[in-house]
Amino acid sequence: MGSRPHIWLQLYRSLALFIVYACKQSNDYLCHSNKFLMEISSWYTNHFDARLKGRYLHLKQIDPILDLYEDVFSISIIGVSENHKNIRCVKIGSGKKVVLAWSQMHGNESTTTKALFDFFQFLSQKQHFQKEIETFLNTYTFYSIPILNPDGAELYTRENVNGVDLNRDAKDLSQSESRVLRDLFTSVKPDLCLNLHDQRTIYSLPNGKSATVSFLSPAANVQRDITEARSEAMVEIARMFTALNRYIPGQIGRYDDSFNENCVGDSFQKLGIPTVLFEAGHFPNDYQREKTREYIFYALLGLFGIMKEEQPSTQADYFSIPQNEKLFKDVIIRNVDIDGEITSLSICYEEVLEDDSIQFVPVLEKIGGLDSFFGHKEVDAKGAKILLNSHENVFVGEKVVNIVDKSSAISLFS
Ligand SMILES: [Zn+2]
Repeated sequence: MGSRPHIWLQLYRSLALFIVYACKQSNDYLCHSNKFLMEISSWYTNHFDARLKGRYLHLKQIDPILDLYEDVFSISIIGVSENHKNIRCVKIGSGKKVVLAWSQMHGNESTTTKALFDFFQFLSQKQHFQKEIETFLNTYTFYSIPILNPDGAELYTRENVNGVDLNRDAKDLSQSESRVLRDLFTSVKPDLCLNLHDQRTIYSLPNGKSATVSFLSPAANVQRDITEARSEAMVEIARMFTALNRYIPGQIGRYDDSFNENCVGDSFQKLGIPTVLFEAGHFPNDYQREKTREYIFYALLGLFGIMKEEQPSTQADYFSIPQNEKLFKDVIIRNVDIDGEITSLSICYEEVLEDDSIQFVPVLEKIGGLDSFFGHKEVDAKGAKILLNSHENVFVGEKVVNIVDKSSAISLFS
């Protein structure tokens, strides 16, 4: 009986030792993790593919770079577009897990293409993260199509040259680009598909921040059941969410999951292959999407386990990602006096291809009803009457050259 207190003492001591050990492990992990984040950010700043920039990205820019990669990666022409432009595929690694990614299915959505080329830079260099890269090459066979819709890319349109949205052509396969993707899908039998897109600047999160990156594990049927493939895709997304959350907390969203069999992601998911939709969105003041491309690059590092997880991600983590809302306008001018009534105006930018670059043309989009909206840029007119392009009558759809305070002539927007 007299030995009891002694046993308790030992138990307490063991527990204390365990807690100290666990804290040390966790601290070591955090130290290691923070060090990795700093190293990878510094690598990115110095080595991302600076040859590609801006929004207008087409074959004339990427083909010469792909030519340079011919000796490093396995690159092949897998078909041609409706306008007979080559569609190329880059194959990297020889691991068991097959991943198939395609970017610029929508020709004017180039951010993820830039991120893919940053990832190619990362994988092809021989100075940094060699252990992680070797593991990646042995674990994965990564097929990627940098530009699936080269005609749309050149025209800077969402659709292909025939005006068809390829992401509504998954069932009909009426366009050669759709068939090229489907043929590759059939021949490489991927374990995971990555459907890479851009989303507009309108997407917001419930916290009032811009949705810089959004993800979706698309539905596989109308009931939106969580099928095995869908569930797997959710966990893959959760892993990227965890990785990205260190960089842009509160700026990652979950996309709408209504089912549409004509969408490629939904149709692949229905076929039982986990498919992840990426939507590269707006980061404050980054209309060229050079910051967002960096975050897509980090998402890829998270997905492929190059950026390690603290603990395994789960389906519950996926559902913890807030759903996107559409509450952003590019510009909101508040407290404007129009016909004696105080109201607000919103302006959105239309992207127009002009002389080989994209112009952001401001257009008056809405008058009033903007109380629940956020502006990427907000201006307070303080109850002033305004002149829009030098006239007093304002109407929706007008291109905005400038807006001035009528009495003081102070510029509110130009
Ligand atoms: Zn898209």
